[in-house]
Parts: sequence; structure tokens; C-alpha cells
Amino acid sequence: MTDLSHYIDGKRVPGNSGRFADVMNPATGEVQARVPLATREELDDAVARAAEAQKGWAATNPQRRARVMMKFGALINEHIDELAELVSREHGKTLPDAKGDVQRGLEVVEVCMGAPAMLKGEYTDNGGPGIDLYSMRQPLGVVAGITPFNFPAMIPLWKMAPALSCGNAMILKPSERCPSTSLRLAELLKKAGLPDGVLQVVNGDKDVVDAILDNDTVQAVGFVGSTPIAQYIYGRAANNGKRAQCFGGAKNHMIIMPDADLDKAADALVGAGYGAAGERCMAISVAVPVGEKTADALRERLIPRVEKLKVGPYTGGDDVDFGPVITKQAEERIRGLIQSGVDQGADLAVDGRGFKMQGYENGYFIGPSFFDHVTADMEIYKEEIFGPVLSQVRAETYEDALKLTMDNPYGNGTAIFTADGDTARDFAHRVNVGMVGINFPIPVPLSYHTFGGWKKSAFGDLNQYGPDAFRFYTKTKTVTARWFSGIKEGGEFAFKQMD
Ligand code: NAD
Repeated sequence: MTDLSHYIDGKRVPGNSGRFADVMNPATGEVQARVPLATREELDDAVARAAEAQKGWAATNPQRRARVMMKFGALINEHIDELAELVSREHGKTLPDAKGDVQRGLEVVEVCMGAPAMLKGEYTDNGGPGIDLYSMRQPLGVVAGITPFNFPAMIPLWKMAPALSCGNAMILKPSERCPSTSLRLAELLKKAGLPDGVLQVVNGDKDVVDAILDNDTVQAVGFVGSTPIAQYIYGRAANNGKRAQCFGGAKNHMIIMPDADLDKAADALVGAGYGAAGERCMAISVAVPVGEKTADALRERLIPRVEKLKVGPYTGGDDVDFGPVITKQAEERIRGLIQSGVDQGADLAVDGRGFKMQGYENGYFIGPSFFDHVTADMEIYKEEIFGPVLSQVRAETYEDALKLTMDNPYGNGTAIFTADGDTARDFAHRVNVGMVGINFPIPVPLSYHTFGGWKKSAFGDLNQYGPDAFRFYTKTKTVTARWFSGIKEGGEFAFKQMD
């Protein structure tokens, strides 16, 4: 059994609270490590040290900071297999998917190599007689990142790379279920040249999160996780005068129009619905075919595809499509929701509950399930299941499908599959969801765009990564300057002779 640590001032430091959380291997159900849960005192100490370290880091010119990101990017590439293995071992996702997790984080590091260009200020020459205005973007100081279990590399990288390249120090509080990748990333950042103390990884649970929210030195909080916690953190952070961007849960709908290529739509739905066991905030969990004929034809294509999916541990070979879910509680919750769907009259066309993984009987495996004839009043529609369950809600018309999507309280991602540009354009324009895919099921924007949902999927007004991140992690100072005349008038212009 390994005891994990925190990462403070450039080294791994054991916790001293005496409290630990078990880090499970979701494929076997065994405890593989214990992660220390920090106390308020440990957090306050880490923040105080970070505040000291931040002064020198903020004074380091932006280009030198960007060079740390360049080396960090190179090191992530060099260690990508090792990082993916760390992700898979604690999360359970397949290795190719774990590599994608690292890769989508690395892409944000790559954008941060250009941070100096993003940090440039603005200038107005002669805004009044003899008056110039200029603005500069300055770091906030110490900021915090609080991240979920489902992307153990990507989301910590989305937080740390922009925050650090803007000249801040960061307290990173990763998910207690998958902490090892963040600890390793912190080591790689040190190797890349980040001064000690500028990134502190403090492990813990609600206690340490509350300590972050109450610490007066912490200026901003970037959170990703479930909606109730996002809303709680947003409220408490704002109440304590902090800047906060808190990204929450999702229920992503994909509309399938009668003119769509249904084979392509079915392939897309299977990948987006069941990849990573449905534990993605951009997973498609609701398919909305328009018209009975489309729904029947889609169902016919989906069932064999879903039945063919291969579930297994990440060590199970290249043909494994998805792994176990994260905890026993998650597994039981998902099973309970599937049962509620049956009880409430949905048509369980593929039932994954009977799946057993030979040799991994204690792992948290659930086979893929597919419900047809789901309606908006059912629990399986209302809840974010976060498991390998896809629901089909049949819509009569495009307007009904659009309304269903828009009435849903979540607004992270959505997609439409159609051959008609006009319908696609109308959908993209009208839908009240932050990220839209057109014939594209998981529209996670590239790293130089920006990521964020609407409605109950995000609290705060700026997105994560891309240009918004540089705004979130800096404050603007604007200077209005006037210089009274000096040497030009009344000055002595003759070359002074020696007396
Ligand atoms: P979670 O909300 O349980 O945990 C997220 C973080 O909050 C963890 O670091 C955890 O330690 C902390 N936390 C948990 N309970 C807390 C409490 N009561 N008080 C204070 N802090 C607490 O989320 P999760 O299960 O780790 O992640 C899955 C969720 O994250 C899903 O809802 C998913 O949709 C969402 N998610 C959203 C995005 C996005 O960008 N919108 C991305 C990934 C995941």
C-alpha cells in the first residue's frame, strides 16, 4: 500500500492530519494507495509559502515564464505513456483515452507558450491633450484550482498552465480519487524550471476546499466538478470576495434530423455516449431523433453497436472500449437509476446490468445500457447519470427537439446531425448551450478557443482556457498619464561648456 503525499515547495511532503482517503483501483475494487487529507493549517501554510514564491515568479518576465511552459510541454510529451498509465490506474479509463486526456491538457500548455502575446496591454496615444492611456494585465497572486476525478491530467493542466503563465502561484486540489497525475505533473513542472512553491498540490476533501475558500490570500478559484458543488463553491468564493469560475455537470443532447447520415450518427452516439464509461462532462447522454421513422432507424443501428461494445480493465488490450466506473457508490447509483428507468416505463432495449468481468468480480464494471422511449419526466432524463447509459427521447419535430434541449437545466454541450446547413445554422444560433457540434458529437473546442457551458453547467462569467483564461487569471490596471512640459520649454539647449 502506497501512502501518497502533498507537493509543497518543490517536493513531496507527507500529510500530517492523520486523515486519509483510499485511492481505489476501479477495475479490481482494491485499495491501491492512500491520499492524505490536508487540514486547514496545512492549507494555510501552503498558501503562505506560495504567496512568497509568487513575488519572484510575477517579477520574472513573461517570456521566461513561457519558456518554462515550453520545457513543460516537452516533458509531458516525453512522459506521456507514464502519465497515461497513472490516469488509467486510478480512473480506470483505457490507455488510448488516457493519452487523449493528457493530450488535450498539453494543448492548453502549448497555447500558454504564447502567453506573453496574450498578456499585452492596450494603449491610447493622445487620448486627451498630452494625455496617454495604457492598461496592463497583472497576476492576481495566489489562485486555486479544484478539479474532478474524470480528467486527472487534462483539467489540472487547464487550470495550472494559464494561471502560472500569467505569473500567479497556484494551489491545486485534485480529486482525492485520482491524485497521482497532479503530483507527477508538479514534479515535471519543477524539472521544467518552475520555482519551488509556485505550484503547491494540496490533497484533501471538503475540509481543504472550505479552507481554500476562506483563505484571504487566495484571490481566485477555478473549479470543475458536479453542479451542486460548483454552485456551492461559486457562492462561498464570491461571498469571500474572490473571483470564481465554477464548471458543473451536464446532460448533453444530440439531435438527429431525418436527413442525417444515420450510420455516422449511430457511430458518433456510441463513442460519445459510452466512451470513458460515460464519465465525461461532454458525453452525449440523450439522443433526440426527429420523427418516428428516424427514431426506429436509429434504434435499429444503435442496438447492435451498443451490444458489441467491449468492457474491460485498461490492461485488457487494445479492443477494450471502456472501463469500470469510478467507485462502488457510482456503480450502485447508476444501477439504481437504470432500475428507475425500467420502473418509470422507459424501454430498456440494451441492459448492461448483467455484465460480469471474469477475474475482476469486485471491479466497478457495468455493461452499456440503451433506453428508448424516455420522457422528460423520468429520473434517467433529469439526472446526470455519468455512466454508460444512453437515453433516446423521441421528438416529433425539430422545434420539439430544440425546445427539449433548451428547457433542460444543463447547457454544457449539444450536437445536431443533419445534412441541411440551414437547420444546423438555425440550431447553432438559437440553442442556449455553450458548446455546439454540427455533425460532431463531442464539441470540446480547441485550446485557443475556449471551453464553458451555460445554465447550470457553469457559474461565473469567463470560460476556461483560451483568451478568457488570461482574463480570468489577471487583473487589469489602467494608467492615465500626462507629463507637464519639461526640458522642451525653458530648458537649456546649448552644449554646456566647462566653466
Ligand atoms: P465532484 O463535484 O464530486 O468533485 C469535484 C471536486 O470538488 C473534487 O476535488 C472534490 O474533492 C471536491 N468536492 C466534492 N464534494 C465537495 C464538497 N461537498 N465541498 C467542497 N468540495 C467538494 O465531481 P466529480 O465526481 O469529481 O466529477 C464529476 C462531475 O464533474 C460531473 O458532474 C461532471 O459533469 C463534472 N465535470 C464538469 C466539467 C465541465 O467542464 N463542465 C468537466 C469535467 C467534469
